[in-house]
Amino acid sequence: MIKENLKKVLATIQEAQEKSRYHQDVTLVAVSKTHPVSDIMEAYDAGIRDFGENKVQELMSKIDELPQDIRWHLIGHLQRNKVKYIIGRTFLIHSVDSLRLAEEINKESLKHNVITNILVQVNVSGEETKSGIDKEEAISLVKEISRLSNVRIKGLMTIAPEVTDAEEVRPFFRMLKNLSIDIDALNIDNISMDFLSMGMSGDFVVAIDEGADLVRIGTSIFGKRDYTKM
Ligand SMILES: *Cc1c(COP(=O)(O)O)cnc(C)c1O
Repeated sequence: MIKENLKKVLATIQEAQEKSRYHQDVTLVAVSKTHPVSDIMEAYDAGIRDFGENKVQELMSKIDELPQDIRWHLIGHLQRNKVKYIIGRTFLIHSVDSLRLAEEINKESLKHNVITNILVQVNVSGEETKSGIDKEEAISLVKEISRLSNVRIKGLMTIAPEVTDAEEVRPFFRMLKNLSIDIDALNIDNISMDFLSMGMSGDFVVAIDEGADLVRIGTSIFGKRDYTKM
């Protein structure tokens, strides 16, 4: 099933990317949280190399069991006391939304003598339940983080509100794209806006249309998650 699902998802991504006015290259991050390593291997054998997990503990146990050339994306809320476990092991941390968290990542990165690539998570919808920095505060946070020696901002990430019609979240994706263009224009040292991480199973076509180049897709590839087994 996973192979067939992937085929469909990749074809839909391709189609959306060809239509997008931004002509961006889109990378699929297969969100494997709650799913076993055997499912990940099935996607890996189909050519997928980018996988997303939202919990540090689950990520750590999977990393050790899977091929070394996987690029791991941490996409969930990250607690400062867990940072030490993942430094040097992720390709990209998508969910940095405070200076204190970025400082902790910097401190641990210095210890391990590595540079850690991150995205700043922005709460574009203003929903109180969503993590992410408010968009009004995003630019000042980016400037503060840019002064840290061992952290590199590579772009922005957002999670859109859950809606029945994905068109409803188009304005939020557009806002994040515009914010990344504004930040890029500031030419801040040590940062780049290479990645725009937005779009999930329900809304990735709209996200790509609005400029996403990293889409985080779980359900459409691996099926529904069963949290009772966790
Ligand atoms: C679980 C998760 C996804 C994937 O969601 P699906 O709807 O299953 O595609 C994407 N992004 C984040 C941050 C997630 O936690």
